[in-house]
Amino acid sequence: MSEKKKTDIRARLGLRPVINVSGTMTALGASIAVPEAIEAAMAILPQWVEINDLHRKASAVIAKATGGEAGFVTASASAAITLAIAGAMTGADLAKVEQLPDATGMKDEVVILMGHMTGYGAAIEQAVRLAGAKVIPIGNVTDAREYQLAGKINERTAAALYVVSHHVVHYGQLPLAEFARVCHEKGVPVIADLASECDLKGFIAEGADIAIYSAHKFLGGLTAGIVAGRKDLVRATFLQNSGIGRGMKVGKEAIASTMAALQAWERRDHDAVRRKERGYLDLWVERFSGMPGVRADIIPDPTGNPIDRLKLSVDPERAGTTAWDLADALAAGDPPVIIRDHELELGFFEMDPCNLHPGEEAIVADRVAAELEAARARNDKETRSPADRRRGRFDRLLQWPD
Ligand SMILES: *Cc1c(COP(=O)(O)O)cnc(C)c1O
Repeated sequence: MSEKKKTDIRARLGLRPVINVSGTMTALGASIAVPEAIEAAMAILPQWVEINDLHRKASAVIAKATGGEAGFVTASASAAITLAIAGAMTGADLAKVEQLPDATGMKDEVVILMGHMTGYGAAIEQAVRLAGAKVIPIGNVTDAREYQLAGKINERTAAALYVVSHHVVHYGQLPLAEFARVCHEKGVPVIADLASECDLKGFIAEGADIAIYSAHKFLGGLTAGIVAGRKDLVRATFLQNSGIGRGMKVGKEAIASTMAALQAWERRDHDAVRRKERGYLDLWVERFSGMPGVRADIIPDPTGNPIDRLKLSVDPERAGTTAWDLADALAAGDPPVIIRDHELELGFFEMDPCNLHPGEEAIVADRVAAELEAARARNDKETRSPADRRRGRFDRLLQWPD
């Protein structure tokens, strides 16, 4: 074994040394934690702390970073959605906190635009139901209107959930400001799932009463979620620690690392990061654009995050492979390269430059070029359909752990 391999924990655990060009994915370990987050976790792990005091300190850091009145660290953004909705149902009533998920006698409806009913490995509507609430969809997938939202809000409505994400429909939806205005006119708080968004202040400024972020995505923290916003709602979310939140407990290490990651984010030289990522994208465009049957375009993030990605479109006739077979070949090879595969069946995939260790951009370029050359040499016309590929994934899941 080489020195590098010996120090790579993945080799010791018998895991494949995957290179992640797909983005901040739970299935690949979320993100590369920043040194500040790792140091904070290591420093606090051997110490006793009064955990609610630590939560109080985290609240101040979150409030400063987001412009919200208070903040609370949860186990994940998904847990934050469940607990924020539970908080909107119970308020600061501990008897109600203990009664959930039985919502008898509480407001128990949550409105959400149909085009926002997405998933992130699990369905967002289940995160709502987990609190004991019912999901009330608004409009249809590609068309939602103010009167439809207003018409579904009644005396049972506990909260309104709004999602900003590349995973939602991007046209025909109500903008957050309009959505919030309709909800506020009827006294309903707006909880915004912003798990992957980099803008820490804008959504609260636009009308979100609660903003939810993942600490382990762009911030590079340990696995955790961040709840920020109106103090009464954040407090009610925190109080779920004595109820359904107990099963979604966050440890001292994740609270301390979330504080450190937020502070590091404020200090980070974002322009330098952007320039480095642009260098990776330019390298890939130069390498792939002359190759037969593929097209390489640099595209902006669909929700306006300050990140560009490479879109690699594959013409099966000329490339001798499909986008999904190429993705599988990259994942199966040495080292495995995992691309962003949400839209494979449309004939392209994306490559995200934000989670690479220095030097991996060149390895990725070599691997993609080599797989394309091999595919063209094989020119194998027998390929699986994208539907077969998806089925195969679920079959494997059901065989875990073997
Ligand atoms: C990633 C993501 C989540 C889940 O975040 P976790 O912190 O991993 O639970 C929720 N919503 C959206 C839009 C996401 O992108």
